[in-house]
This record gives sequence, C-alpha cells and structure tokens, in this order.
Amino acid sequence: LLPVAGLMAASLVALITWLARRRLSPLGELELALRNREFVAHYQPIIDIETGICVGAEALARWRRPDGTAVRPDFFIPLAEENGLIGALTNQMVEAVIRDLAPVLVADRSLHIALNLSAEDLVSGRVLAFIQQAIAGTGIRTEQLWLEATERGFIDIEAARATIIEARRLGHSVAIDDFGTGYSSLQYLQRLPLDALKIDKAFVETIGRNAATSPVIGHIIDMAKTLDLHIVAEGIETEEQLAYLRERGVRFGQGWLFSKPLPAGEFVAFHRRRQHE
Ligand code: C2E
Ligand code: CA
Ligand code: CA
Ligand code: CA
Repeated sequence: LLPVAGLMAASLVALITWLARRRLSPLGELELALRNREFVAHYQPIIDIETGICVGAEALARWRRPDGTAVRPDFFIPLAEENGLIGALTNQMVEAVIRDLAPVLVADRSLHIALNLSAEDLVSGRVLAFIQQAIAGTGIRTEQLWLEATERGFIDIEAARATIIEARRLGHSVAIDDFGTGYSSLQYLQRLPLDALKIDKAFVETIGRNAATSPVIGHIIDMAKTLDLHIVAEGIETEEQLAYLRERGVRFGQGWLFSKPLPAGEFVAFHRRRQHE
C-alpha cells in the first residue's frame, strides 16, 4: 500500500504544479522558470575555416520546461529584456558555461565561449563582476570568455562603452554581433573599442544567390580587416558560402554546415573530434 500512497502523493504534487502553472501569465512562467533554473545552454561550434578546428562556441539559451517542451529564445529573451529579468538570465548562462565546460576550457586553452549580452548587461556592467566571481577557482581564464553585443545593446552608448572598456581590461574579447543589420553599425564600429565582428547571416545568405553576391558582405570583410578585427561569419549553410568566405580570408565561421547548436555533452564530443593535435 505504501508505494501506492507515495505514487498518489507524487501525482498530486504534479497536478497542483500543473494547475498553478496553467494560471500563470507568460511573464509569471518566466519568473518561475528563472527561480527553478529551467534554462540551459546549447553550444554552437565556431570553426577555424582554414584548419577545420573547433576554436570555440557560442552559448545560446534554451528554456526546457518540466513538461519537456523547449521554448525558443526569440520568445523569452525579449520578454526577459522588457521586464528587467535579463540580468538574472545572463547570470544563469554564465553558471551553465562553468558547470558544463570548465574541464574542457582548462584542458584546451585555445578554446573560447561567447556569451550574449543584452542592453541592461552593457549599461549596468554588473555581469563583469559576476563572471569574475563565478570563474574564481575554476581555472577558466577571463580570456576564454568572449562577450557578444548587438546594436540593441548600445542604447546608452556611453555606458556600453565604459562596460566594454572594463571587459577588455579584465581580459575578455568583445564582439559586435549581427553586424550590419541595424541603422548605425558604422558609427558603433568607430566609437567602440572592439575585438571581433560577427557578420550576420542575412549577408552570408546572399553569397552565390543568382550569381550576384551582395557587394555589402565584401565591404564588411574589408572594413573589419582594416580595423584589425577578428571576423566570425554566422549562418554558414552551404559549401559555396564557405568557399567564398575562405577565399576572402575570413578566419572563423559558424553555421549549420558545421553544426547546429548542441547540448553540452554533444558539444564536448564535437570539440574532442576537432581540436588541436
Ligand atoms: P544570435 O546571437 O544571432 O544567435 C545566432 C542564431 O542563429 C541562433 O538562434 C542560432 O541557432 C542560429 N543559427 C546558427 N547557425 C545557423 C544557420 O546556419 N542557419 C540558420 N538559419 N540559423 C542559424 P537561436 O539559438 O534561436 O537564438 C536566437 C537569438 O536569441 C540569438 O541570436 C540571440 O540574439 C538571442 N539569444 C540566445 N541566447 C541568448 C542569451 O543567453 N542571452 C541573450 N541576451 N540573448 C540570447
Ligand atoms: Ca550572438
Ligand atoms: Ca548573431
Ligand atoms: Ca542574428
């Protein structure tokens, strides 16, 4: 009788949880998910186009609900940003990277993980102290954590600038993300001290299409080279795109041609197969 009673109690708890959740708004659900730590990181490999070696990964947030369904970031990132919750989510991503990858990062010093920052992170800069505290004693070096910022993050340009300067002083590399998709990309490129530029997949997509590759991507590459920035091309899906980028001397690439974003365990295996000898 005891196991049956236990089972009944367990399903009663499950029922109550389900009922409670059902009554929550999307925002209420998000708050609960943050408290219950339902966010995980998936890792999309970043490849050295010349050698095929996996030099890093971008950490991408995934919300895995208790019922097993996964929610896309396009839904919950804006919701978190609009409601002052993105700082908490960024912190959980930092913790996920450490939990998932500390041994790999210590074993391969040339490996880096890129974290996405939102406007609030860039304005407050609090994430920098959080990272220092979180990596203390893990053996991970600040240099192994890259930070990605989109133009949406530069609403307060002076605050963002101060955070970027401090991040680089600590040892992070900072990349401008989704480059070219906003109105003022060029201005930011001039005003912010940056290490890397990520070419948005909207431009990579134009490669080879109807014979006429958008001239814009060529100019972005030339400009990044002039400014001595690392270049990461995003959203590479075809061999043709890869060939074009390689020919133009783009060093790093990311996209489905190499790999989709992977759960931590699968990323570790991917990296093991494609690292420096
Ligand atoms: P993003 O930073 O531009 O990330 C790249 C997105 O492109 C990812 O979508 C990735 O899965 C997708 N992608 C990569 N390769 C390919 C490809 O070859 N083809 C196509 N069609 N898509 C590709 P995802 O994971 O859905 O993330 C969407 C956006 O959500 C990200 O865009 C980023 O802006 C935001 N995001 C994700 N995780 C975080 C996070 O932890 N913090 C913040 N602040 N934003 C995040
Ligand atoms: Ca990004
Ligand atoms: Ca991007
Ligand atoms: Ca993008």
